[in-house]
Amino acid sequence: MDNEIYRLPRERLDSLIERLARDYRVVGPVKQGATWMWTDVRPGMPLALDYPTTMLPPRQFFAPMRETLFRYHRGDDGRFAFEEPAGERPFALLGVHGCDLTALRVLRAFHESSCRDRLVPGRLDRSFVMGLACWTPCLPESFCRDMGSLESESPASLYVWDIGGVLLVKVQTARGREIMRDVGALDAATPDELVALRKRLRTRPEAFPAQLQFAPEKLATSLKAAESDILWEATADRCLSCGRCNLVCPTCTCFDVGDQASLSGGDGTRTRSWTGCQVPGFSRVAGGHDFRPGRAQQLRYRIFRKGKYMPERYGMVGCTGCGRCATHCPTHISIREIFLQVGRAP
Ligand code: SF4
Ligand code: SF4
Repeated sequence: MDNEIYRLPRERLDSLIERLARDYRVVGPVKQGATWMWTDVRPGMPLALDYPTTMLPPRQFFAPMRETLFRYHRGDDGRFAFEEPAGERPFALLGVHGCDLTALRVLRAFHESSCRDRLVPGRLDRSFVMGLACWTPCLPESFCRDMGSLESESPASLYVWDIGGVLLVKVQTARGREIMRDVGALDAATPDELVALRKRLRTRPEAFPAQLQFAPEKLATSLKAAESDILWEATADRCLSCGRCNLVCPTCTCFDVGDQASLSGGDGTRTRSWTGCQVPGFSRVAGGHDFRPGRAQQLRYRIFRKGKYMPERYGMVGCTGCGRCATHCPTHISIREIFLQVGRAP
């Protein structure tokens, strides 16, 4: 493994951005006011590799908040013609944390299996991702180590450890090697740098104390046992149904599809946009029937989706422990607290 680790002096980051910009739209975390946001980056811009996560997750680049799926037009012969939007420039994401790398795998699993979508997997295939190791939790609510996402290095082409003076980069794909070669960064890490890296990796768990005290694999069983628990009513009493937890979550995948048609019905655009299970009306179907009408049922569904349904369907827990939902919930409803409560049950 050590042979695959190269040095990228910090001042070469600009060369990396410049090289990637030839083929990709390059985005990375940049500080804006008191927060950090995924932003288009150019050489010379301060890429915040020490950022403590962003409010909106990287899924925004692969499954955009709102996108046109196709336009349609009915010709004189009554037949419809369909036109797909022009191809976009693929993304290069720099500095994706383990929790968000894990979430990209969940995103792919959902779009490849549940809805057999071409667009999102296509964007993921064409993208370039540089992962970034964390040394401290991003947020007080983060519990990524418990959820197994702290050490996640896939699907990154390059994976970076910032050890201070220099960035150590693990090359994980042929494309990653090609990019590193083009920026002249194929000097192997020195023995001292590798010793420093191993030491930091050895002591890293101390910065991420266990918060759940049980393996995430146990969640599905624990949740099943808590299906009719009073916990849902009690917690949902504080829920405002604002949907923020859905918006900021890197593994939320729900979308709405709508047509904007001309009055004649002959022309139109079909769009897809984010929605969420905590938003009123999400589960309302034809005839006005709502199969999850109350906040307790909505909250229970979100937690079950993450901890039970996604593992059962995709073989992956649907929560990375990033801590965004609790951090941005106006009433501080914490999925970690809920997991803890259901996991404590015998
Ligand atoms: S962010 Fe909090 S209040 Fe808003 S819907 Fe989610 S759990 Fe409810
Ligand atoms: S449920 Fe909350 S903690 Fe889990 S991945 Fe989504 S935002 Fe992060």
